[in-house]
Amino acid sequence: MSKKKDRRIKRLQRLPVWPAVVEMIITELVIFSLSLFICALSLFGILNTLILNIANECQTVVQAVEENWYKESREDLQKRLSSFEESYSDINKIYIDDSNNIKGLFPQLKDYYDSEAERLLESVGMVHFFDKEYNEENLNLFFSNGKIKLSVSDLESEDDEYNINSAEQDFSAILINPKNLAKSVNLKQVLRDREFLGWASLDSIGLHVISIYATKIPGVHLCFKNVYKLNAFQFNLFCTILVFFMLTIIASVIYEITKVVKLIHERVRLNKLVTTDTITGGYNKDYFLQKAKKEISRGHRNYAVVQLRLEKYRNFCMAYGVKQGENLLEELNANMVELLGKKEIVAHVEKSDFALLLSYQNEETLNIRIKNIMNILRERRGGQHLTFSAGVCPVMSKNCDVSLVLTCAGLAVPKTIKLQDEIVWFDDSMKEEQVWERRIEDDMEKALENHEFQVYLQPKYSTKGEKLSAAEALVRWTHPVLGFISPGKFIPIFERNGFILQLDDYMLESIAHLQAAWAEQGKELVPISVNVSRAHFAEDNLAEHICGIVDKYKVPHQYIELELTESAFFDDKTVLLTTVRKLKDFGFKVSMDDFGAGYSSLNSLKELPLDIIKLDAEFFRSVDDIERSNLIVGQTITLAKKLGMEIVAEGIETREQVDFLAKQDCDLIQGFYFSKPLPVAEFEEKAYPVVE
Ligand code: C2E
Ligand code: MG
Ligand code: MG
Repeated sequence: MSKKKDRRIKRLQRLPVWPAVVEMIITELVIFSLSLFICALSLFGILNTLILNIANECQTVVQAVEENWYKESREDLQKRLSSFEESYSDINKIYIDDSNNIKGLFPQLKDYYDSEAERLLESVGMVHFFDKEYNEENLNLFFSNGKIKLSVSDLESEDDEYNINSAEQDFSAILINPKNLAKSVNLKQVLRDREFLGWASLDSIGLHVISIYATKIPGVHLCFKNVYKLNAFQFNLFCTILVFFMLTIIASVIYEITKVVKLIHERVRLNKLVTTDTITGGYNKDYFLQKAKKEISRGHRNYAVVQLRLEKYRNFCMAYGVKQGENLLEELNANMVELLGKKEIVAHVEKSDFALLLSYQNEETLNIRIKNIMNILRERRGGQHLTFSAGVCPVMSKNCDVSLVLTCAGLAVPKTIKLQDEIVWFDDSMKEEQVWERRIEDDMEKALENHEFQVYLQPKYSTKGEKLSAAEALVRWTHPVLGFISPGKFIPIFERNGFILQLDDYMLESIAHLQAAWAEQGKELVPISVNVSRAHFAEDNLAEHICGIVDKYKVPHQYIELELTESAFFDDKTVLLTTVRKLKDFGFKVSMDDFGAGYSSLNSLKELPLDIIKLDAEFFRSVDDIERSNLIVGQTITLAKKLGMEIVAEGIETREQVDFLAKQDCDLIQGFYFSKPLPVAEFEEKAYPVVE
């Protein structure tokens, strides 16, 4: 897996909750700022109305005084002012300063009423002071540097100053007059209580201000002691807005948190889905690789990766149905989970293969353990005969590439179907094999296009008269770089990857072409056999397909023989039988190649209407007990003859073998004794010598 892809998959599997959290924080910040802004705006509006209202009241008083200054006596004027004081609740007291004695009237302003204040009064016509004395005589509450500092003038001890941490708004100063409050509750207690502000009586919150207004009357100022405080309506309105926005914030926080929780839940579910194998309900390969990597990297134990295969799974599915097959895999997975240790892992990786991460001490104990697992799996299925094979690859380092280790374990799984359990440990030659296979697969198509495959013909001689009477077509590959490659090194690979279908067609077509050319030259044709790989038997219309190729060259069918390898007889017998029958009906000869090399030769003889059997070369090679071997060969020939079949003996290298076979009534002999496989030109010279 490329690093990029690895990262992408990991990213998909991880829980990227942070975007949702960031989204939540941003949303909340927006809602909070909006709420704060609207609250501040409404507070500003309310305060503005309050200030304007007081300013209007003061202006009305100033106007009234200006209008009546010369008309009324000072006493009447004072009465008029008293009536204003009564009717305007925000104005506590009105003073007339007609002798420029503001500091005398308000000694608490002695430090503040300076030349700058005078200049302001002159130019703007009014100046306002915070009434420090009035506010301080009871309780002052300062906000400074983010801390609330309380000082209470009538508290006795030195302890009367409290520092309260506060992250609240940065008012420069708020003053509280707890006159009423102090009477009703224990002030000290209230001050210790952080909820003091909330509890402070409405009436007690107010800002005491001394306002000085210039008038049109020369040398006369009007001074007001005002208290800026919210009335009940304003306060309620403000509180309602505040509560509304608080609720909005709480609701949105709850909504956003629910969203994030839901997302986490969804992600966990998705992750589970991504790591679950849909057939067994257990873990899948991706999860195995991740989990195994984690476990191995801890480096606590010795681990080996095992690829355990249930053999003939396809066969099982054919017999019992795919559903039953999947149920079987599910059961095997569940059983293996039970049999594994805590830090060991099992996952279904492909078809009927499971990957296991097993801890182990040495090769022997691990083999016993795997065998045990196989036995238990089989026992738990009662009477059913299950066969397993396993490839084992030990983990060499804690930083290893687990997927490569698993691939190696997979490579070690025996390729041929076995009738008994088998365990194979990976070794480096398997890797070389794999590299070779890759190379062959990369080049095979180009090789077919470039005619790198050549037809060789190996003559078959009759025992009577020792005359060239037939031949077998054998492929040879001359690779431009690797040189000559023998069929044993590429045919099994082509059989696995299916390329053999194309190669066999190529060989058949070449032979048909050759036969047609020789026929046209008036030469007496001999039957030439071509090998037909078992892979062809997956096609229903194999006979028609072969017929089509041969007929293209109008070659009489009796001159083409088809050699089926014995391994083809393990596959679907009915398809094989129908194909053989059809081929015979079309007039082709059908032979069984390598007879005696497999398991069920005699059975095949019984079931298939074959024309020829080719005795495997091994009969003549293993010469431990010649007599025994000769007896078997002799009896097989007799049996085949009785069944009306022709006999060809392969791999014959000596005169003795030829004589023996001739005595046993064998029909044809193919082997180095008479000739090696020959290039077409050489074969032509041998088969059709030019008579001088
Ligand atoms: P086969 O069909 O049984 O072919 C006989 C093999 O035995 C040939 O090996 C041949 O060269 C070899 N042989 C013949 N006489 C003697 C002898 O006296 N002594 C010894 N030691 N060997 C002898 P080759 O050509 O290497 O082919 C091996 C196998 O490859 C063939 O076995 C056949 O199964 C497969 N094969 C070859 N060509 C093709 C083809 O075109 N298509 C398919 N499907 N398989 C092919
Ligand atoms: Mg053959
Ligand atoms: Mg053979």
